[in-house]
Amino acid sequence: MELPTRIIPNPHLLQSDDLLKYVLDTTVFPREPQPLKELRDLTANHPRAMMATAPDAGQFVALLLKLTGAKKTIELGVFTGYSLLLTALTIPQDGKITAIDTNHEFYEIGLPVIRKAGIGHKIEFIESEALPVLDELLKKEANEGSYDFAYVDADKLNYWNYHERLMKLVKVGGIIAYDNTLWGGSVAADSATVGHKGGAVTQSTIQFNKSIAADPRVDISLAPLGDGITVCRRIY
Ligand code: SAH
Ligand code: CA
Repeated sequence: MELPTRIIPNPHLLQSDDLLKYVLDTTVFPREPQPLKELRDLTANHPRAMMATAPDAGQFVALLLKLTGAKKTIELGVFTGYSLLLTALTIPQDGKITAIDTNHEFYEIGLPVIRKAGIGHKIEFIESEALPVLDELLKKEANEGSYDFAYVDADKLNYWNYHERLMKLVKVGGIIAYDNTLWGGSVAADSATVGHKGGAVTQSTIQFNKSIAADPRVDISLAPLGDGITVCRRIY
C-alpha cells in the first residue's frame, strides 16, 4: 500500500494540502499536548502510521470529551495509542478508559510515552478482539449505560455490531464516535477511482453510514475531519 505524500501520514480528505497544513499549523499543532506530539513523532515512521488518528480529528474528539464531561470511556482499536493518550490526557484524574486491541505490540510502542505522561492509571488495556469483550461487559447489568463515551476505530467490518452493543453500554446522552467513516473518500467514489480502498470495507462503511442515518436512537453528525468521523449521541 502506498502512503499518501501528505505532510503527515494520515488519509486526510481535504483536497488542498495547503489548506490542511494551514489548519494543522494554525489550530491543531500549537495546541497539541507535548506527549501527544511525542507519540505522533514516535509513530510517524511506522509502516502503518496512517492508521493513527489524525491530529485534527483528535483535537475534535478531545473537545467532545470536555463538552460532555466524559469520565468513563471505552476505545476499540488502540494502535500505538494516539487517541487513547489524548483521551487519557483529557478526562479527569479519576477517569477510566477500557482500551481494546488485538495487537499488544503496537500498544507497546506508545506505552513509554503514555507512562511518562502520568496518566497510565486511567487505562485498562485488554488484548482481544473487541466484540467478545463487549459481549462480556454486557453480561454484567451494572455496565449497561455506564459509559459516557466510546471511540470506535477497530476493524471497520464490525462497526454495526459494535454499534448495537455500544448502544447498551453507553448512557443515554452519551457519545459514540466512529472513525474512518468516509474511508479515504471511497464511499462516494466510482469503482474506477476507489483503488486499494475498494471492496469489503468500502461496502460495509457505505452500509454503516446508511444504517446510522436511519437509526432513530441517535443524533448524528459526520464531520469530514481526518478520514471522516461520525459522532452519535444516544437519545434513548
Ligand atoms: N485509534 C488508533 C488507531 C487504531 S488503528 C490511533 O489513534 O492510533 C486500528 C486498530 O484496530 C489496530 O491497532 C488493530 O490492531 C486493531 N484491530 C483490528 N481488528 C480488531 C478487532 N477485531 N478487535 C480489536 N482491535 C482490532
Ligand atoms: Ca482511524
